[in-house]
This record gives sequence, C-alpha cells and structure tokens, in this order.
Amino acid sequence: MNLFEAILPSPKNGNFITGLPTMNADPRSPSASAAARQASPAFDLVLFGGTGDLAMRKLLPALYRRFRDGQLSRDARIIGVARGPLSREEFTGKTEAALRQYLGGDFDAGVWGEFSALLHYLRVEATAKEDYAALADLLGSRPDVVRLFFLSTAPDLFSAICREIAAAGIVTPSSRIMLEKPLGEDAASAARINDTVGALFSERQIYRIDHYLGKETVQNLLALRFGNALFEPLWRRGQIRHVQITVAEQLGVESRGDFYDRTGAIRDMVQNHLLQLLCILAMEPPASSAADAVRDEKLKVLRALRPIGDAEALLKTVRGQYRAGVIGTTKASGYQDEPGVDPNSRTETFVAIKAEIDTWRWAGVPFYLRTGKRLHEHLAELVITFEQVPHSIFSGPFSSLPPNRLVIRLQPDEFITLRIMAKSPGEALRLKPVDLALDLGESFKGRPLEAYERLLGDAIQGNLTLFMRRDEVDAAWHWIDPIRAAWATDDDGPRPYAAGSWGPAASSALIARDGFAWNDEQ
Ligand code: NAP
Repeated sequence: MNLFEAILPSPKNGNFITGLPTMNADPRSPSASAAARQASPAFDLVLFGGTGDLAMRKLLPALYRRFRDGQLSRDARIIGVARGPLSREEFTGKTEAALRQYLGGDFDAGVWGEFSALLHYLRVEATAKEDYAALADLLGSRPDVVRLFFLSTAPDLFSAICREIAAAGIVTPSSRIMLEKPLGEDAASAARINDTVGALFSERQIYRIDHYLGKETVQNLLALRFGNALFEPLWRRGQIRHVQITVAEQLGVESRGDFYDRTGAIRDMVQNHLLQLLCILAMEPPASSAADAVRDEKLKVLRALRPIGDAEALLKTVRGQYRAGVIGTTKASGYQDEPGVDPNSRTETFVAIKAEIDTWRWAGVPFYLRTGKRLHEHLAELVITFEQVPHSIFSGPFSSLPPNRLVIRLQPDEFITLRIMAKSPGEALRLKPVDLALDLGESFKGRPLEAYERLLGDAIQGNLTLFMRRDEVDAAWHWIDPIRAAWATDDDGPRPYAAGSWGPAASSALIARDGFAWNDEQ
C-alpha cells in the first residue's frame, strides 16, 4: 500500500481509506463475514499507558471504529498496561465508559460486545523487571502475529520500557514500536531516547507519531500538490509572497498543567506539528510516495531552515503567556493560576516565528508559524498568499488588487478555498474577492478517518510513510534548541496576552514589519 492508495476514495465504499483493507459486508454489522475477519493481520497491541487520557480518549475509540468497520482481525489482542491494580473486567468497564463518552452515537452495544473480547489488562510498573514476566506469559508464542508496543506514557519511561521488554525476551524481529510525542525535550534527550529505542528496534520497526500527519486535510495537501499539475509551477518564490501556518487552541492546559509547564508551546507544538506541516507544504515533489522518498524530502526542508539563535531569536520570534480573559462568553483564568502551574512560571503558551528556508525554491519567502493556547478561536490553517498582479489594468480603487490566497483549513472544519478576484454583477466594472471553495465533508460523503485510526491502521499494516524518521526529529530539535537557548538569556520572558485574544501585540508586529498581516487580521 502506498500513500496515494491511502488517500484516494475507495470505489468500494466511497470512504477515505485507510491503511487497512475494507470488507464487502455491511461494515457496521457485528456479525461480520469470515472474510472480513481477515481484514488486518492478526496482532497483539501492548498499550503502555493503557488507562491514560490518550488511550481512553483517542486510541481505544480509534481501535473500536476500526473494528466496527471490519478492519481489525478477530485474532487481535489489545493489552492495556499500567500500574493501576485493575482486573480485566475493570479495565473493560473503564474502556466501555470512555467509548460511550467519546464515541457518542457511534457506540453500538453489539459491536462493543465483540470488541471487548479483544481487551486484556496487565498491571506493570514500567521500571520493575519482575512485572514483565506476566506480560511475556500473556504474549506467549504467536509467531505469525504482528506484535506492537505502543508507548503512551511519559517519555521518561520510554528507555525503561525498552530495556525491560528486551530483557523479558518479548521483542521479536518483526515487532514494532510506536512512540507518542514528545520525543525528548531537546536534541540531546531525543537522541538518548532514540539511541535506546534504536538499540532494540531497527528504524523500520519504529513508528514515531505526529498525529497531525494522520489528519485527512494534511494528506489532502499532498493530493493537492502532487495530484494536480496546476499548483507546482506556482509553488515557489516569485509566485508565493508568504505563507502562514496557524494552530490556535481555545483550550488552556486543562488537567495537564504540570506537564505543560515543563514543556511550553514551542516544544509541545512547533517542534513537531507545525514543522511537519511546514515540511509537507514546502518539500520538493518526492520521486514516489514510498515512506523514505517522502521522508527524505521532508528532511531536506528541516535541514534548510535558516538557524535562528542569539539576538535574531528575539527579532524573529515572539513568546507569550495568557492572562485572565474571556473566550466567547466564558471567563478564563490566567496561565499562572492554572492547577499544576508554577505561579511565577515563564513558560510560553504562545509562539510566533518567522521561519526562512534557504533553498532556490523558497529564498525570500517568509513562513510565519503561530500557535498558542487560550486564543480567540480553535483553528488550524495554512494560508498561502500569492504575489499581487504585476500591473493592474483597472483604475480607481482597483488599481491595487489584493493577492490570491489559498487557505487550507485543518480544523475545526476541513476545507480548501482559493480566493480570486471576480467582477461583481452589474454595469460597472467592480472587482470583488470571491472564494472557490472545496468543502471536503460535502464533496466526499464518506466518513473521514480520525488521525489515530489511520496511524494505528498503518502501523498494523507496516506502512511508515506518516511516521517521523529519526533524522527528521533530530533536525527539528536542532532548529528549535538555539531559539530556546536565546530565550533562556532574555530577562523579559514571555509577553502577556489576554485569554480570548490572538496573542500578544508583538505577534502582529512581527508580521507587520514585513508588510503583511495574519489571516484573521485581514
Ligand atoms: P496520562 O493520562 O497521565 O496517562 C499516563 C498513563 O501511563 C496511565 O495509564 C498511567 O497509569 C500510566 N503510567 C504512568 N506511570 C507509569 C509507570 N511508572 N508504569 C506503568 N504505567 C505508568 O497521560 P496521557 O495524557 O494519556 O499521555 C500519554 C503520553 O501521550 C504522554 O507522553 C503525553 O505527552 C502524550 N500525548 C498525550 C496526548 C493527550 O491528548 N492526552 C496528546 C498527545 C500526546 P498508572 O498511573 O495507573 O500507572
């Protein structure tokens, strides 16, 4: 299966596909056909952190949906692992409650009855060698079964888990390991994790997750760029004036204040999600859609990012931290008052960066990256602003025309619009911007896959394209580290912004210095 098989709608079911084959019978039927039961290879998924927030909110619901759609083998086992002293029944009950909550109308008691038979639970303290014997017993010898270890725990446990699964003799030559971000907190700690994991698993067995890469619209960006001849001649300096990548959240730190306060926006969001989006947007056309062909091109973008350090960091980056404010009609408290956060914290909850890519294609085209918490809107979008017409033949107010703009919206809704100038109806020749709009939900009626559905399916199937290779992670950290080092010597700390705003005024000033404005300010 290559990437484009993973993107294109299936003639069979009209759905966006998947790393896994689909079946012919009604996929929602709990009594799926025998053929459907072979849909994925048989697998044992060992889910470290199996009782945690990510597992309950995202991973188990994604697996349930895959199962419901007939895409998981009946000969699969999902083994939740954590320290809590739960029985199998208690783990199953906790999972059922989570599925009912997070799947809403998608929960079906009949499907659940069959899915729950796949679930197991083991109490394992990640660092306790003796606890792994029971895991080895449960896994037993199933030589034809794909064995996956999914580490959905804090990254400081990754090394211990790797050490202990190796010592317990449960890593087979065909085992795979899936690692949740964050992969380390800087280049050095990421290298330590990668060294430990790499000593046990070959690179082709390691699935480093950036769930943004599993998003439908991110893959649509690939389809848009490389499935159409139209855009490629325009996709360069001279045609594109500047690019914006915004991932804005309305949420604050919720129950993760302690984690977030040690992490901050640049490590939580920019090092992974925003840089991955930048790579897909800016990479050269890969020779094929094979995993390494795509990852090679992404890596070249990361390596071509102009370093930002020392005094430059203060000019080309803006950090912010939210204060109390109002989002919509709801009052929000300030970051330093959040549970788990140091009241004198200098952790940034907002970042804006002017990035530049030193290649022939992109020289002189700024890429503005922006992300933050407690912002005005929940929104992720890429905005590509083209050059203005070189000369306007129109007079008066139309002697200077706004540039064309391509907007690729990833969330909350998924659409692509191209803003063009058109004549407004009537006698006079008046020009007006209008949007050519592609609403992906409307155009393709099938249910798009959730990011984790796709990523879990791909890992079970052995497709690495949407996972990060080690050298990508390293290169991303090597670009981020000098920015953080420069911030550490800056006495001013992050600039305050009111919850519900679009971040500190300095963020608008950063882009205004080049004569531009953020999309929401236009
Ligand atoms: P969480 O809710 O705190 O869950 C952590 C899980 O690990 C629990 O099942 C916990 O169960 C288990 N655990 C903790 N210490 C352990 C130990 N010493 N030995 C064995 N198990 C242990 O965390 P989470 O939100 O699910 O996040 C998990 C990872 O995914 C983190 O690295 C996080 O940064 C990352 N992530 C999370 C999200 C998200 O939306 N939640 C999104 C992206 C990435 P016990 O306490 O019972 O052991």
